[in-house]
Amino acid sequence: MWLQNDIQLRRPVREILVATNNPGKQREFTELLASLPAKVLFPLDLGLHIDVKETGATYAENAKLKAQTFVTASGVITLGDDSGLEVDALDGAPGLRSARYTPGSDMDRLTALLNHLKNIPKERRTARFRCVVAIATPAGELYTAEGECEGTIAMAPSGSGGFGYDPVFYIPDQGKTMAELDPQVKNRLSHRARAVQAALDILQRLVLEESVL
Ligand code: IMP
Repeated sequence: MWLQNDIQLRRPVREILVATNNPGKQREFTELLASLPAKVLFPLDLGLHIDVKETGATYAENAKLKAQTFVTASGVITLGDDSGLEVDALDGAPGLRSARYTPGSDMDRLTALLNHLKNIPKERRTARFRCVVAIATPAGELYTAEGECEGTIAMAPSGSGGFGYDPVFYIPDQGKTMAELDPQVKNRLSHRARAVQAALDILQRLVLEESVL
């Protein structure tokens, strides 16, 4: 006979692994997934040092690659994401290559972006962030969801919040760059927030099913 305590002790801890080592993304995912009945883990929490090469031809392919690599390594439901900034005047660049647009730091990359746009007037600086999240389960299920956020590229960086291209991504409705937004506001309207929002019901179901004895 199982005593109540035995059952509780044997119930697996509900966990979800988010397959990113980017500290900016980690902060945002921690908050975005806070409503789930699961502990949010990152690769180093499980001692995983895996560098997944972004060899896919789309955000979805890269997100799936990350989710599947880490679910196989961990046995924990895994969310992988891929995201990028698409600038219309640059035919969608940096896009999939946003993290590798130029070598160096985030500041180097946004400086390069501003240089490439130096002759482009305000009205032609439209852009969007895109994000795809992929969720992979140890049983082999795989789901994706996506989100985007429209804006323009500012003439100069402004603000100190967020990460990546946030200081140059201006959101007309808010009258601010993403780096000037309160983090909670960014986490309501960002591409990543919208992708997670679209996946929350699936995540909730998967986490609860996974923890059934
Ligand atoms: P990846 O998703 O790891 O391929 O990285 C995408 C890159 O796009 C990041 O390294 C950032 O440079 C940029 N990026 C993605 N999301 C954001 C964001 O929310 N703010 C600013 N930059 C972002």
